[in-house]
Parts: sequence; structure tokens; C-alpha cells
Amino acid sequence: MTRIMVVAMAAALALGAQTREVAITIDDLPQGGGDHGALGVAGVRDMTRKLLAPLRGIPVIGFVNACRASDLGEAALDGILRMWVASGADLGNHTCSHPDLNTTPLAEYTADLERGEPAVTRALGHRPVYFRHPFLHAGPDAAKREGLSRYLAAHGYTVAPVTLDNSDWMFAAIYADALARKDAATAEKVRQGYVPYMESIFAFFEARGREVAGHDFPQILLIHASRLNADMIPDLLAMMRRRGYRFVSLGEALKDEAYRLPEDYTGKGGFSWIHRWSKTMGMKPKGEPDEPAWVTEAYGKLGR
Ligand SMILES: [Zn+2]
Repeated sequence: MTRIMVVAMAAALALGAQTREVAITIDDLPQGGGDHGALGVAGVRDMTRKLLAPLRGIPVIGFVNACRASDLGEAALDGILRMWVASGADLGNHTCSHPDLNTTPLAEYTADLERGEPAVTRALGHRPVYFRHPFLHAGPDAAKREGLSRYLAAHGYTVAPVTLDNSDWMFAAIYADALARKDAATAEKVRQGYVPYMESIFAFFEARGREVAGHDFPQILLIHASRLNADMIPDLLAMMRRRGYRFVSLGEALKDEAYRLPEDYTGKGGFSWIHRWSKTMGMKPKGEPDEPAWVTEAYGKLGR
């Protein structure tokens, strides 16, 4: 055995020996995150089944946009959300129509949020506990930021932060477009590029999280309910396991003191809570890896 092989094996063992924790959160139910392909009820059901099967036994929470599924009809949406609950997932509110807090008056935004609640409540059998901001936009100015915080607290919502923020939605949009055009080569290129990109996000935020919080803590991953993730979830889970992760619920992750760090970011950006904490501490900014240039380019050509 060469010296390089020994070193590589030792590094792999050290990596595997670490126990890391991650909570998996999936946004834009029943279908979204760049995947705007018109699948119809049967197609969304198939996608949901495929996405959920490898996640059985793994704590996961899905964030719902009930109004974005209006073309499916209420009964179909209820059925799809019941699939999530039946497979052991929790559900949270992601507003009804995915408005942008940066450009939507607060009263309109909270009215939309409220409209998103009944479908989630019907599926869960109780009101949702967690709220996830669309675009991770939590307040472009102090009035909106504080106004929304007060609204959420008064209505019993806990904010669901994200630490492992990424551009899965760009890959998903290119993938959906390739599937629609029956462009097998591009679909394969997306599948090949996706997990290595996601692994670069994990590597970055693991190190940056330690720098900012001073210790390793349970990460919170954001991915979207897309055909890309339905097809790639086994590989994504394998990557996380290879990095030494075990899966915890969002509630369990939030028990870590990292999530008590002061966070007063006010602005139009939508990004990882690790960046919000670092900004609040006055640390020099450090950004996560970009998606590959071909992804940026292909996404740009979609004209979204
Ligand atoms: Zn979303």
C-alpha cells in the first residue's frame, strides 16, 4: 500500500467516525423549487411517492404552499399531504402562494400565510408549529421584520431556519426543462453534477458553522419537492451518511444553543442562518460555493 493510500484511508475513517447531525426540510409542497412542470395529480403523486420512499424512518418536515397547488384541487392536495403524514413526515406552513416579503405589504403577506394554514391543519390534525419564509426573506426593513416576528409569535409559530442553503432549485429547473424536452443528455448532466455540488455546500457550512458558532451543531438542510430530488434522494442520503451524518428532527436540531445565537439581520437577502449570525457578530463575510458555471448559464437561458 502506498503512503498516499494509507493517508487517504485514515482521512476516510476519520470522516466516517464523526457523528454529525442534520435535519432535512423540504419546501414548496406539493411541487416546486424550480420544478414548474405540469405533472397533474397522478404525476405529483408519483413524484411524492418516489421522494418519500427512501426517507421512511428518517425525520423530515415538508413546508406547504397550498395555493400553488390550486390547479390540482383541494381533494388532491389533501391526498398528497396525507401521503407525507402517512410516511411519518411533519408539515409546516410556507405561506399559501409563496409571496416575497421584500415586495409584499406585511398585511397582505400575513393574510396569505393564514390562507396557507387550513390545508396543513387538515393533513396534520392540528395547527402547524413551524413557519418557513419563502425565499428565506425575513424582513427587508425593521418594521416588516419585527411585524412578522410579532405575528408569528402571536400565532404560535416557530421560525424554521436553514443552515445548509443551496441552489437545488436551479438544478431542478434545468432538470424539469430537460425532461420536458426529452433531452436525456442534459438530464444526465444535472444528475451527475447535483450531489457533488451539494457536498461542496455541506463541506463549506460544516467548517463555517464551527467558525461562527464555536462548535459543531445539527445542520438544517433545505431542499425542494422537485422531480430532481425525487430522483436523487437516495444519492443525497448516501452522501450525507458517507460524511457521518445521522438524521434528526427539526425540533431536535433547534435544541442546540447555536440556534439561540443573536440574529438581527435586516435586509433583502435570503441566505443561511450561519451568515445571519456571522453578520450579527460583525465577522468578515465568507460565501458558500457557487453552483457550476454551466448551471448558472443553463438556468439563465430558461428566462425565469
Ligand atoms: Zn419556497
